[in-house]
Amino acid sequence: MFSSRARSILSALHVPLPHQPCNSSLLLVLPSVRLVSPRNPTLTFARSFSLKSLFSHPSADVSTPDRPPVLSPDHLFHPLSKSPIRQMRDRATLINKYGSCPVCYEEACAGDDANKTDAKAKHAKAKHAHECKAPTYECSDCGYPTHCSEGHYLSGKAEHNKYCAALREANEDEHDLRSGRKMPEFNFPGAQGFDEVVNMANWDVFFYTRGFPSMDTERSMRHVSKLLTHPITIASTLHQSSPFKVGKELTPEGLRSIAALRTTLYPREELAKDGVTLLPTDTIRIFLVGARAEASLPPHIWLQLAHLFPQTPFHIHFIGPDAIPSKGVPNKPFSTSLDARLTFTYDPSFYHQYHERIGGTTHFDPYRDVFFLFSPGFAHPLTRNGWRSSVANMLETKCAVFVTGFDEEDMKGDMAAFEKSHEEFDWILKPGENVFRSLKRDVNLEDLRHQIFANWGIWGVRGKRYEVTQPDEE
Ligand SMILES: [Zn+2]
Ligand SMILES: [Zn+2]
Ligand SMILES: [Zn+2]
Repeated sequence: MFSSRARSILSALHVPLPHQPCNSSLLLVLPSVRLVSPRNPTLTFARSFSLKSLFSHPSADVSTPDRPPVLSPDHLFHPLSKSPIRQMRDRATLINKYGSCPVCYEEACAGDDANKTDAKAKHAKAKHAHECKAPTYECSDCGYPTHCSEGHYLSGKAEHNKYCAALREANEDEHDLRSGRKMPEFNFPGAQGFDEVVNMANWDVFFYTRGFPSMDTERSMRHVSKLLTHPITIASTLHQSSPFKVGKELTPEGLRSIAALRTTLYPREELAKDGVTLLPTDTIRIFLVGARAEASLPPHIWLQLAHLFPQTPFHIHFIGPDAIPSKGVPNKPFSTSLDARLTFTYDPSFYHQYHERIGGTTHFDPYRDVFFLFSPGFAHPLTRNGWRSSVANMLETKCAVFVTGFDEEDMKGDMAAFEKSHEEFDWILKPGENVFRSLKRDVNLEDLRHQIFANWGIWGVRGKRYEVTQPDEE
């Protein structure tokens, strides 16, 4: 039996599919350039991770109340094309349409593309796409259509075996989400008790100390971590039990930024005169620039961030052309509140336009404002220029800017592009793996070999500060 809340959670977890062929073409170049040149999957991944399309059919494939489970937990695995669940069959169709057989590709195209630049390789790939046949042959171990024929499957099997177990896991995870079983792991805890001490060292102790329903299986952990990675990654950088330690991940400059924010989050005066009532702090504003999937999360998911700071009101700003709320599709800025402590603004402007409109740098305060950019794709040739002026504006505010990447290559590419474009900044968080990444693997339907984890890594920077201009900072 699913409540509407459970339903929206399930909707949010479905990995949707590329909307338009034109976006898909970006990824067709991947197989050849994956290890040699900066690749450009960010936009396409943005598409495949965007959750917003799901909300146009909120209950499309979620079981209705009182209907028995479609699949039992020990019969989750199905070849995609023969799945009893339509969305999984659709996935097979999309892979057939947008993917290509890796053995065909190696034979026909890899040589052509090896020495070409990104753009040229893309062009070349499009030209001889017909030589790379569609993957329609399904591997019996993972159930994904991986190759064009049994012959190519067998000759590519040694290579495929590197990915097969992960695809099998993804197959069962996706079927489990749609199996219609009761999902007690999505009964998230409410407000934090006054004496509750939360430990944010990693997902396990976080779930335990925060009173989440016990996660009996790795699969439950994967589902829940995927849903919570954005709010909890933010919380983990701000929280006093943050996994980022001073002198290790957090630089001295980082400590200054975090200490400023914690001055607001953890005030000295906690209680009103009655000795019981918590005094509210100033509002913390979180700017999620280039927001995509995170803007489509059901708003109550963000309560898990707010619950960790019981005194603090949060105003979360989703900024960027893909920042579409889960309800309503306005093309102009739009604000809504979940409760007195949690307000959302969705603004489809590019950040540099937004920054200008709200009055520029003076509008920001490093004690109350913080930026998070989830897999922004600074390195992407199509968005690099746009990001340059936006990021320059963010650095001018002297507020902390945290950035995530979906794998090591994504993160390194973004860091390289960032360092090329900007000089006046300090590192506040050294790049590293994010303990609050999604534990769930996302598979690129255009190239099944490419699998990523949302918020795999994290780093942070801030515009350079000069003591003379900030005399009262300490
Ligand atoms: Zn083939
Ligand atoms: Zn070719
Ligand atoms: Zn397989």
